[in-house]
Amino acid sequence: MRARLIESHEIAPEVRHFLFEAEGVARLDYRAGQFVSLSADCGGKAVTRAYSLASAPHADNRFELCLNRVEQGHISPKLFAMQPGDSIDMRPPLGMFVLRQPPREAVFIATGTGIAPFRAMLQADLTVESPAITLLFGVRYESHLMYRGEFTAMAETFPQFRFWPTLSRPELHWTGRAGHVQAHLDEALGGRRDVDIYLCGLKQMDDDVRAILKAQGFDRKQIFYEKYD
Ligand SMILES: Cc1cc2nc3c(=O)[nH]c(=O)nc-3n(C[C@H](O)[C@H](O)[C@H](O)COP(=O)(O)OP(=O)(O)OC[C@H]3O[C@@H](n4cnc5c(N)ncnc54)[C@H](O)[C@@H]3O)c2cc1C
Repeated sequence: MRARLIESHEIAPEVRHFLFEAEGVARLDYRAGQFVSLSADCGGKAVTRAYSLASAPHADNRFELCLNRVEQGHISPKLFAMQPGDSIDMRPPLGMFVLRQPPREAVFIATGTGIAPFRAMLQADLTVESPAITLLFGVRYESHLMYRGEFTAMAETFPQFRFWPTLSRPELHWTGRAGHVQAHLDEALGGRRDVDIYLCGLKQMDDDVRAILKAQGFDRKQIFYEKYD
């Protein structure tokens, strides 16, 4: 299968939002939270990388991704160089990082482009009847808060949804949360142990948060994670 780029635009420094279409299918079927695998030739070798689908399933063959460009990386710079109409090999969606059914109260914890599967889940699953969800989103600087307007609007529409951005390197004017996501975990949990935790981002955050939760007596079955590196 091939994915053809429709358009991409910058949403934060070194981060782009991509709109693709999957060629040869009328509809790309997947569950919010899953990923596609994209492959390209790198010096005569096929290199494949996974990318979380960043939107709820469309009614057609379109899908969205959110990517940061890894300096010296094999695939992400190639994706950043793609022009509308260019295409790349892809494998259909896969993955187990999806909302458990029936959904329970949850804390979503994302760093950087780890926000992508949560955007998909929230678009697909957040309704007036959803259980409470807190989205703890950690980035370095305010300009890196991708989709901030969308999450803010969701929090205004759905009172049970809390959007908590936190900056690890806040500028002087920032009056919101600061520090790593770990620093806000206890407050997000509010002493509760009967919530599900979903983590997505780089290994360091993932491992740190899981160690904290384990020390607090959380069951492994309540913790769902996707590691990007
Ligand atoms: C299930 C899954 C879903 C993913 N979804 C996304 C997504 O939605 N958006 C996204 O941007 N990435 C996502 N990734 C990461 C992605 O698959 C690639 O690892 C990333 O794009 C780097 O690939 P590359 O070929 O450009 O760099 P590589 O050639 O693999 O890496 C070059 C160097 O950069 C380091 N590195 C690798 N990844 C990162 C990173 N993300 N940040 C900083 N340094 C890194 C490596 O350790 C290596 O030393 C996902 C990974 C997995 C496993």
